[in-house]
Amino acid sequence: TGGSSRRFRVVLLGARGVGKSAIASIFAGAADSMDSDECELYGDEVCEQTITVDGEKATVTLDEGGLSQDQCIQTGDAYLLVYSITDRSSFLQASELRISLRQHRPAHHTPIILVGNKCDLVRRREVSVTEGRACAAVFDCKFIETSAAMQHNVWPAFHGIVQQLRLRRDTK
Ligand code: GDP
Repeated sequence: TGGSSRRFRVVLLGARGVGKSAIASIFAGAADSMDSDECELYGDEVCEQTITVDGEKATVTLDEGGLSQDQCIQTGDAYLLVYSITDRSSFLQASELRISLRQHRPAHHTPIILVGNKCDLVRRREVSVTEGRACAAVFDCKFIETSAAMQHNVWPAFHGIVQQLRLRRDTK
């Protein structure tokens, strides 16, 4: 509680076409209380938003991969690692990104959520929920399935990452 909220830098990583911009636009469209009714834009694909999680405000800067993914791996406080449940290769790419993250940030317990997007496309599913969950367990990160198209579970993903960031902050 208290007035000042910390600024967290969250990065969306993932293959092309998995829905990163769709997720970012949902984030950008959020109007939280009186702080702002519009997303502040920093450059092309970075957006800042103050959201309330568990009654406490958090300022989140979302980076949609305007920088190269290598650069993003250096700069984030937390990551949403996105794949599409309709595209197995994007799932494999998410695993590779998880490995690079671990290599670049070995000393940090960087919060990561594995996000299986496009869960509305049930008939085109190539990656099961069980596989997604198992992969997250191996990679020691949280897991959620979302649908940016249906606006399903996108906010829980952002709230989850803020909760993890706070846990890490509070145990420092
Ligand atoms: P990016 O390359 O990762 O930024 O992916 P985009 O956000 O541009 O999305 C790629 C395509 O997938 C677009 O045509 C989106 O409309 C579509 N898309 C994104 N998220 C979803 C979703 O949750 N469900 C469905 N059905 N389509 C989606």
